[in-house]
Amino acid sequence: MSERPTTTPARPQRPLITYVLPVYDEEENLAAFHDVLERATRTRPDLRFEFIYVDDGSRDDSLGRLLALRGADHRVSVLSFSRNYGHQIAVTAGLDAAADADAVIVMDTDLQDPPSVSMEMIERWEAEADVVYAQRRSRRDSAFKRGTAYAFYWALDRLASVKIPRNVGDFRLMDRAVVAEVSRYREHERFLRGIVADVGFRQEALLFDRDARHAGRSHYPLRTMLHFAANGILGFSTAPLRWISRLGILISGVSVALACYVLYVRLFVPSQAVPGWAFLGVGMFLLSGLQLVMMGVIGSYLGRVYVETQDRPLYSLAMTARGTHVSTRRVPAPRASASREPVVDPVLAEGGG
Ligand code: UDP
Ligand code: MG
Repeated sequence: MSERPTTTPARPQRPLITYVLPVYDEEENLAAFHDVLERATRTRPDLRFEFIYVDDGSRDDSLGRLLALRGADHRVSVLSFSRNYGHQIAVTAGLDAAADADAVIVMDTDLQDPPSVSMEMIERWEAEADVVYAQRRSRRDSAFKRGTAYAFYWALDRLASVKIPRNVGDFRLMDRAVVAEVSRYREHERFLRGIVADVGFRQEALLFDRDARHAGRSHYPLRTMLHFAANGILGFSTAPLRWISRLGILISGVSVALACYVLYVRLFVPSQAVPGWAFLGVGMFLLSGLQLVMMGVIGSYLGRVYVETQDRPLYSLAMTARGTHVSTRRVPAPRASASREPVVDPVLAEGGG
């Protein structure tokens, strides 16, 4: 087997590892996070690193903090969305921008994913793995979150057309070949961990203990989590559609049997012929309820078809600051409670743009 990385002779440089880091209202975490991450990467001077932070329309001063980080560390790049698009889209934008990396590591910016684990991922990648996904050995989440996560993975295991590993978030390393494949999946309702599982290649799990959030609170309330879970199931399984027909056949079978029984009573034991209103009423409610549920399932798939056929862009960038290149569509103003100082990209301010 060839030694990693399999760079072409035209790329004699040290391998480039790019971190893709989604940020939404993380102003209290960014400085500490970047410090821990940067210190972890210092253990590998034989590699080059880039840190692509994707500001997902934060309402706090996250963007200002990111640009400050960029002022102190030229390997920091900042992409800023025109509004909040959600975690999965933020990661997608980072992956799109990281096409030139030899390997990409996706991780959260709230210190729940320990940077030291990402260094272990790099070692696994060097030893031939194409995808190294972090699998939670333990999680310091609420009992509720643990319970719902368990139910979700259980359902996904049974339904999904590809094997999607349990207790795996989006914290993972991907070889450039995998990133290229993942970037070809352009669905709007995204479930990235399913997409990565679908792509194939050599995938390995790395067990880790997920820490508690450094500061702030989770951006995945129950409603978002349910939407996300539905995306996982609807995006990777058509089983619910098949169930509808099976259930339909079953219920039709039951009604035929019932009709036979009614005919039998009518012909052979007419004294027992009961009006049976209660039974009819219950049956009617049951069936109309079932029909509504079924229509809902069909509607969910139809909704996805509708969204995908619209084929709108996945995200729009208000600002890109990378290397010495800075492009802004508008001057990023501090949002909401942020400081009154205008946000200025340090490289731009130095006249390096
Ligand atoms: N995030 C994002 N956009 C969002 C919500 C979250 O980019 O709309 C980022 C967030 O800043 C964090 C990561 O995605 O880096 C995971 O979010 P969070 O910690 O809220 O989720 P949890 O860890 O609770 O599942
Ligand atoms: Mg988190």
